[in-house]
Amino acid sequence: MKKPTYFFKKSHFTLLHDRIKTAPKIALFLDFDGTLVPIQKDPARCFLSEETKKQLRSIAGSQNCCLSILSGRMLSDIKKRVGIHKIYYGGNHGLDISGPDIRYTHPKALSAKPVIRDIKHLLQKEIAGIKGAWLEDKKFTLSLHFRSVEKGDISSVKRAFYKTVDRFIEKKLMAVIKGKKVLELAPYISWDKGKAALLILKAMKDKCFPIYIGDDQTDENAFRALNKKGITIRVGKSAKTAADYYLKGYWEVPRALDMLTITKQSAGIYEKKSP
Ligand SMILES: [Mg+2]
Repeated sequence: MKKPTYFFKKSHFTLLHDRIKTAPKIALFLDFDGTLVPIQKDPARCFLSEETKKQLRSIAGSQNCCLSILSGRMLSDIKKRVGIHKIYYGGNHGLDISGPDIRYTHPKALSAKPVIRDIKHLLQKEIAGIKGAWLEDKKFTLSLHFRSVEKGDISSVKRAFYKTVDRFIEKKLMAVIKGKKVLELAPYISWDKGKAALLILKAMKDKCFPIYIGDDQTDENAFRALNKKGITIRVGKSAKTAADYYLKGYWEVPRALDMLTITKQSAGIYEKKSP
């Protein structure tokens, strides 16, 4: 794994500019939590700022950019939070996708739904006495959040989780995704945000140059899938990343989006889509 370069490093700008400029269209893939919005204790309180919404609308409306939002949230949740029509959305880390030319749910995700439901009931009992721990049922995945749990109780949360899910993991029915202060249970499938991004790229009518921005471990699969084809950017400096570039934090994302889209405009083919 090579070290990522700071996205705004001046000496890299020409290279970046040339790569974007020559591409007929860019396919911009964005993660949501930690990338477009700061992570909150309660994920229900994460909303796009008006400026970011405006910026995303402008990107979605431009002739030479296709926008996708890939999130660990449920598809309906992420669609509601972003609220822009005619763009691509991937919920549950890409297990559930919708967009202008695609509607896809991974078949194994559908069949795992009853198992997730059963585990949810078991886990609910296990964590009942731990203050601040709570479950989020996302239909195809299940998240155990512990951001609000006292430091001393975190080991109990993890113990309760693994005690309940271990047998499902051993049977290869389920897999664990470790996030930021969250343990997530997902169907045991060879599928991730990287595969989802490739599927969306294929569904796009035009040949697009992919750019992926994300902040978490689940985005690493997408970096690996896309970094030979396009530009990959990790939000938050991390020594262990497959991304080519990094940004210092979510607060730098709007500027990076501006730079990418302005660069594309300056290539002379930026036009507004006809309504
Ligand atoms: Mg994220």
